[in-house]
Amino acid sequence: MTLAQTFNAALAGIASTPRQLLIDGRWSDAADGGTMVTINPATGLPLAELACGRAADIDLAVTAARRAFEGPWSATTPYDRQRMLLRLADLIEANYDTIALLDSLDMGAPITRTQAGRHTAPQLVRYYAGLVPTLRGETITPSVPGAPFVATLREPVGVVGAITPWNAPFRMCVWKAAPALAAGCTIILKPAEQSPLSALLFGQLCLEAGVPPGVVNVVPGMAEAGQRLAEHPDVDKITFTGSTRTGQHIIRASAGNLKRLSLELGGKSAHIILDDADLDLAAPAAAHAVFQNSGQICSAGTRLFVEDGIHDEFVERVLAETATLRMGDPLDPETQIGPLVDQTQKTTVQQYISTGLAEGASLLAGGTDVEAEALAAGSFVSPTVFTGVRDDMTIAREEIFGPVLSILRFSDRDEVIRRANASEYGLGAGLWTQDVSAAHALGRRLRAGTVWVNCYQLMDPAVPFGGYKLSGYGRESGYDHVHEFLETKALWIR
Ligand code: NAD
Repeated sequence: MTLAQTFNAALAGIASTPRQLLIDGRWSDAADGGTMVTINPATGLPLAELACGRAADIDLAVTAARRAFEGPWSATTPYDRQRMLLRLADLIEANYDTIALLDSLDMGAPITRTQAGRHTAPQLVRYYAGLVPTLRGETITPSVPGAPFVATLREPVGVVGAITPWNAPFRMCVWKAAPALAAGCTIILKPAEQSPLSALLFGQLCLEAGVPPGVVNVVPGMAEAGQRLAEHPDVDKITFTGSTRTGQHIIRASAGNLKRLSLELGGKSAHIILDDADLDLAAPAAAHAVFQNSGQICSAGTRLFVEDGIHDEFVERVLAETATLRMGDPLDPETQIGPLVDQTQKTTVQQYISTGLAEGASLLAGGTDVEAEALAAGSFVSPTVFTGVRDDMTIAREEIFGPVLSILRFSDRDEVIRRANASEYGLGAGLWTQDVSAAHALGRRLRAGTVWVNCYQLMDPAVPFGGYKLSGYGRESGYDHVHEFLETKALWIR
């Protein structure tokens, strides 16, 4: 079958998923009747037409979320919210085939990758469900005369705007909404315009789980909708994942009412291979660290620093692994590399590859052309490997968000830590060594929110994830994540 034929055959599997806005527990068209069309990036064919929310729709959603927050939702007990989240986790599990299909069709990730969320997405919801009854304040003995009673109360922040990117659409909804609900907040989800469909299904599953009207609202739309959420005077917090540039816009737009912000932004992660590393494990890991999801991962290991003594052998091994990667139809279970999310992203990545060549890096695999005619209509870019990359080259400094690996050579371990840290980003970092002393000494010196030693890209609901520097602030996952949706009130009673 051609890509277009498998695509057409798959459409029946998502035909009944929602296409309207979810506001106040009801499905509705946009206030101005506007719609948008999402494109399947593997074929370039239209996938679905759906309502396109604008500022007026965000205003309606914020009103609904505020009413719900001040209404019965605030009276729910921790166990009520826990039960709802557990029901939601079960529903996510039961509907996972549709969720995976939606994300693969909408943003092009291989079906094996989206299917992997069958376990991780419900696990994430259950993790937050488990935390709900543990949230608590403390009692304090103050030293002021009269010995008043003082307790801290942990209260939900209020109405939360969640703005998400396209690279992991359904997971982002869970990552934003589950801790917000656990804390007792209400939420307006604004998914990325390139891949909004699974967020609407998430909204439907929340309703089925018994989440009351107005507590979870889903308003797909363009940047305008996100901008309105960020500046809206009645939104108390924004939780955002996306580019650093948009994060900076959101900081400015949110200043009016000093919203609480959590920002998960871009990255340019250093992945360091010392010459005592287990090369059998490290070389495939180095390739997958950057080529998974076609490089559309914020913490992709895009700057690969290889120690002198093993440099040439390691490059050969990475190239050999790269050559095994199968690019093609995202719905084929054999496919490891799907298309980029759209033609705009493809053009951006191709421009970076051209810049790498122009600045003198050596291209050893991939490049700007995809030879397979069957993939010509999609936004495919082959896994691309550059060697001879210098720290000052554009491809070594800027986030590309595509399948482009820059290999850099080093000979001194202090020097490589300095070079790894000389980035304006600080999201992830990797280190491979069999020397436990080096693992401790060097791992601690890397300035990044996550440092993986002898592994890469592992995630767990209990482990915090987030960035230093331009990679943002706040942490997702982990015990403290729910606390980002809580205020602390000191209650004095005499
Ligand atoms: P983006 O910043 O272009 O868009 C993200 C979201 O912001 C979309 O929903 C978009 O509509 C909205 N938006 C755009 N302009 C806005 C504005 N002015 N005000 C409010 N909202 C606005 O990001 P993207 O291209 O969709 O995603 C890729 C980026 O996301 C990369 O930089 C990547 O590193 C980052 N990312 C970070 C993490 C992390 O955990 N740190 C995870 C995934 C992706």
